[in-house]
Amino acid sequence: MSVTEVLRPADYESRLQRYLFERSEEGRAVRVGEKEVSERAEIVARYRDLFTREQLDALRGAHEEARAGEERERLYRLGKTCEAGLISAALAEREDALENAILAARLEFQGEELPLRSAQARVAVLDSYAEREELGERTADTSAGFNDERRDVIREGESLEAEVSGVDDPTARIEEEKGISLRELERALAQASDASSAAYETLRERWFERLLGPERGSPPNSYHVAFLRRLTPLESIYTKEKAVPICMETLARLGFDLESEPNIKLDLDDRPQKSPRACVIPSDPPQVVHLITRAQGGLHDYQAFLHEAGHALHYAGCDPALPYTFRNISRDHALTEIYSYIVEAISREPGWHARYFDLSDEEAATNAEATTFMEALLFRRYTAKFQFELDFWGRFSDDGGTPGGYEEKLTSATGVRYRSDGYLADMDAGFYSADYLRAWIRSAQLRSYLEREIGSDWWASTETGERLRALFSEGTKPSSEEIAARIGFEPLDTGPLVAELGA
Ligand SMILES: [Zn+2]
Repeated sequence: MSVTEVLRPADYESRLQRYLFERSEEGRAVRVGEKEVSERAEIVARYRDLFTREQLDALRGAHEEARAGEERERLYRLGKTCEAGLISAALAEREDALENAILAARLEFQGEELPLRSAQARVAVLDSYAEREELGERTADTSAGFNDERRDVIREGESLEAEVSGVDDPTARIEEEKGISLRELERALAQASDASSAAYETLRERWFERLLGPERGSPPNSYHVAFLRRLTPLESIYTKEKAVPICMETLARLGFDLESEPNIKLDLDDRPQKSPRACVIPSDPPQVVHLITRAQGGLHDYQAFLHEAGHALHYAGCDPALPYTFRNISRDHALTEIYSYIVEAISREPGWHARYFDLSDEEAATNAEATTFMEALLFRRYTAKFQFELDFWGRFSDDGGTPGGYEEKLTSATGVRYRSDGYLADMDAGFYSADYLRAWIRSAQLRSYLEREIGSDWWASTETGERLRALFSEGTKPSSEEIAARIGFEPLDTGPLVAELGA
């Protein structure tokens, strides 16, 4: 057995940068269909020394000794990255086995054998309500068949987390890492969700009728949510062909020229092997940031492009003089999601619909209302999911992970029926739901700030671009809550969000 040397923090950081670059580039090549076989395991093996107990102890020791401030925060994040790498290496085999089993799962639909993943994507594009019901139910049944294995992986992961971090309570552990109280966040979100209930119910009845039709169930099943999200009946207006040029022009009005921005590598081509999900891969910010999309048709293409452009501009706009940790490593995802959400929010402006799609003001307002409805549905779903996750982890040490409350909470919040046995497939690690929800609150605050400072056409002004650029330059260093202070809000002030959802 070879004894590897423990790296000092500065050397650790630069080796981590090389590792993350190689791993990201490999992941990108596979995702966009440039490579068929992933050599990720080889890269992970080559950098195994980054994720050892000895290295973790060394980073933690350096963190303990550091004085408060920037250096201490940097060492904390390096330590947490090492910790996460150790845990994911230990779980990799079981997680891969589960993932491969899910990839291999097949189901039958209209005389055709479909992989589970294709079936899930197909449900979103079926025009017939009854066919979506049928295929939706089959995919949900097939997916639920993996619940025992999912639960085992979660249990093993949790016991590793407890052991490596030394903190037994999963909620307390995540609160320490995010630096916030999850309970206080939950209270603020519950109030915002309640305050917007009446407005939501009005929107819901109108848009369910228009998008799902009179044959819908009461309540309709969650199988129809992806279909709703595409706003399929409006597809002829929001065409696949116009998605890229219109989004580019939208960004140009903010002063961002994506095509001549050297740090952002655009991949907008339509290739059969390319995953249809839009994404950003920050391989080495700010110089190497990939923005990858593949338009499918429908308004969702525009929203996904603008969302990812927000992430790409954030990473590509960070100050190159920042230490690597503050260009690419964060405690969680709550910060970068503010910037994706604010750029995506442009697609909810009636003026944007009117300008780019040749619609009357009335049509534009109606279509913008559909996006508000979807936003409200997703916000309420996430709030309920977060509340369920708090309960799930609160009782985990006693019951090892049970679905109690999942169906009731999500169904009552959204008016869409969520199946109890979908709870594990719907679970994100480390309370990612809380990061999205913090971004929901913060991006609404930011929009309200921009509207106040710049005016109602904030979404078409280069001044907005300048203010965003100033925030982007700070990289991944600030917390979401620090951004609240910069724009003059209390972190849990949901006033702007409630106003948006009730619009
Ligand atoms: Zn995002």
